Amino acid sequence: MNTNLSHKVAVITGAGGVICSAMARSLAAMGVKTALLDINSVAVEKLAEDIESEFKVISVGVGANVLNKESLQHAKEIINSKLGSVDYLINGAGGNSPLATSSVEQMLDSDLENLDETFFGMKMEGFDKVFDLNFKGTLLPTMVFATDMIDKKEGSIVNVSSMNSYRPLTRIAAYSAAKAAINNFTQWLAVHFSKMGVRVNAIAPGFLLTNQNRFLLTDEETGEPTPRGKKIIKNTPMERYGTPEELQGTLLYLLSDWSAFVTGVVIPVDGGFSAYSGV
Ligand code: NAD
Repeated sequence: MNTNLSHKVAVITGAGGVICSAMARSLAAMGVKTALLDINSVAVEKLAEDIESEFKVISVGVGANVLNKESLQHAKEIINSKLGSVDYLINGAGGNSPLATSSVEQMLDSDLENLDETFFGMKMEGFDKVFDLNFKGTLLPTMVFATDMIDKKEGSIVNVSSMNSYRPLTRIAAYSAAKAAINNFTQWLAVHFSKMGVRVNAIAPGFLLTNQNRFLLTDEETGEPTPRGKKIIKNTPMERYGTPEELQGTLLYLLSDWSAFVTGVVIPVDGGFSAYSGV
């Protein structure tokens, strides 16, 4: 059983963001050669420099759009020439849009005067954006980068879902549905590739306290949780947020031969959130 990841080549989309930059660092710490893809080329070029100087392992940052096949094919040419053939793909680019988010959690009679705050105010443009980024933004990089793995009859793909794929969170209808589609696609592709030596799994992170949501979840002055933050903590059996670094163990497990007979699973890393009924 080969559990040594060193010198493997991993492509990570959304690597300029909070979660995937932490994933890239943890892979580099294991000696993995990392190809960092993001629409924000400046962020991934800087991250690649930092990784090379910190971990002494080759890393390349490439500006690429996960919704554009030519852009991904161009990135693949660069990656193949600088790092070699691809062993792992982490589909991390994703996110929500305010255009597909309702203002109210549950519709009440009092909302009949202001339907824009409810389901009826959400915009198709928002649904298109969220489904494109999360679903097609996983599909397309897989079409481009999995070819190397199929050629070698060896490889592992990890999609980034969310615990709201199992049970939707209030307000974010499109994001929840798009992540549910990721789970379904993960199972579909796992079966499709099962005789080709390529495994396909997903991680479903729970609530992580990051720079982006800190202002929503904690009071800036007191450091105490906001009402939404309190609700989250109350519904997380471990009674705390996770950190991007806490996804590392599950990621390494899914990429390595420790999970050689595991394909088509979505692993929650959520402090028990998805297991808890609230009672
Ligand atoms: P983030 O916004 O910090 O990172 C997302 C990255 O994707 C950004 O760097 C962005 O530039 C990049 N990106 C956006 N559109 C792109 C495109 N078209 N092509 C290429 N790159 C593009 O988000 P994050 O919190 O690090 O989330 C990473 C993943 O984890 C996402 O799939 C997200 O849905 C999922 N997730 C996050 C949380 C959380 O609490 N933060 C929880 C569950 C799941």
